[in-house]
Amino acid sequence: MIVYEAKLEGTDSQYRKLDEALRTGLFVRNACLRYWMDGHAKTRNDLSAYCKVLSDNPDFPWVRKLNSMARQAMSERTWAAISRFFDNCKAKKPGKKGYPRFKRLQTNVSVEYKTTGWKLSEDRRFITFTDGFEADQFKLWGTRDLHFYQISQIKRVRVVRRADGYYAQFCIDYDRREKREPTFKTVGVDVGLNHFYTDSNGETVANPRHLRKSEKSLKRLQRRLSKTQFGSKNRAKFRNKLARKHLKVTRQRKDFAVKTARCVVMSNDLVAYEDLKVRNMVRNRHLAKSISDAAWTQFRTWVEYFGKVFGVVTVAVPPHYTSQNCSNCGKVVKKTLSTRTHTCHHCGHTQDRDANAARNILEKALSTVGHIGTNASGENDLCLGEGTPPSKPTHRKRKPKEQSLESPAILGTPS
Ligand SMILES: [Zn+2]
Repeated sequence: MIVYEAKLEGTDSQYRKLDEALRTGLFVRNACLRYWMDGHAKTRNDLSAYCKVLSDNPDFPWVRKLNSMARQAMSERTWAAISRFFDNCKAKKPGKKGYPRFKRLQTNVSVEYKTTGWKLSEDRRFITFTDGFEADQFKLWGTRDLHFYQISQIKRVRVVRRADGYYAQFCIDYDRREKREPTFKTVGVDVGLNHFYTDSNGETVANPRHLRKSEKSLKRLQRRLSKTQFGSKNRAKFRNKLARKHLKVTRQRKDFAVKTARCVVMSNDLVAYEDLKVRNMVRNRHLAKSISDAAWTQFRTWVEYFGKVFGVVTVAVPPHYTSQNCSNCGKVVKKTLSTRTHTCHHCGHTQDRDANAARNILEKALSTVGHIGTNASGENDLCLGEGTPPSKPTHRKRKPKEQSLESPAILGTPS
């Protein structure tokens, strides 16, 4: 599944109609949530049945206007939030469990159409919303070409409202796989705050610190906002300004994560990184902002995504002792966070702290990849990840065997 996004260009009155649709979606969601909180809904089906009741209720005539599949999607999403909360409780996840909350229109709301309620124009540059709100035709602003896919491949169309406008997201049922020349290189990366990451070859990538760069102007806007009056137009104006600024930081961060991840994946055949529990790490309130700003989890997600697309092995190794061990002799060398250089008093090896950790990560990854589920015949290719076609490893391993068996025989017959 891939998601393409395009901005919707229309008139103000059209946007108001989209607002109405979004508000209705929110109403359905919050009503479903209330129904569950009051103990009436025990299953997903109960919620979607209640959704039907809502649309038949003459007190809420606007609910009927929203496309029926979009209404159902809203109740499904509510149930998803509820069951996620239950799962977290069952798994005894540390910290907050995510009790579902009522949403307000001011947040980034969205409404999800499935296969009906919208229509693309012949040239696929315009989208028309055909449900009861009659929002009509919008121009699509985006860099992606929808021509490449069949209409039947578009499984969902989401309308999302952000601080700077309205967007349509197309969820396309397509498995992205691309070819890439092998580079015969492996790399371990150690993410950090001084450098965004240090790899096992000692190379570093600078930490862009997007939030820190915009912090000053964000703070100024926040101050201005707090001085305005509740419910005033001025407040709405500054709220929007502040939200746009935050949106910009979010986008910068994502852009950086995507590009860096793609770069790492493209230039290596195996990428190893630490299986960090960022959730626990941000509890350190001195570092929380910097850690969140670095967006390690986002980076990792994209590394894994590109790994799948380009057939590159990605390994997450347990983070224990990666910075404490010596990458040369393997012995433990205790050091605090402030010790930036690794100096081994067992073998005399000296290296930058993060580069040492990155080498350990790579070594750990290689040792696990090499040993998990292997057997003598080389039949098992579990370890090679989903990206590699399963036929290759066995093929490669068998050939030399056959040759080595046959060649003495060939040599033997003439003599
Ligand atoms: Zn050593």
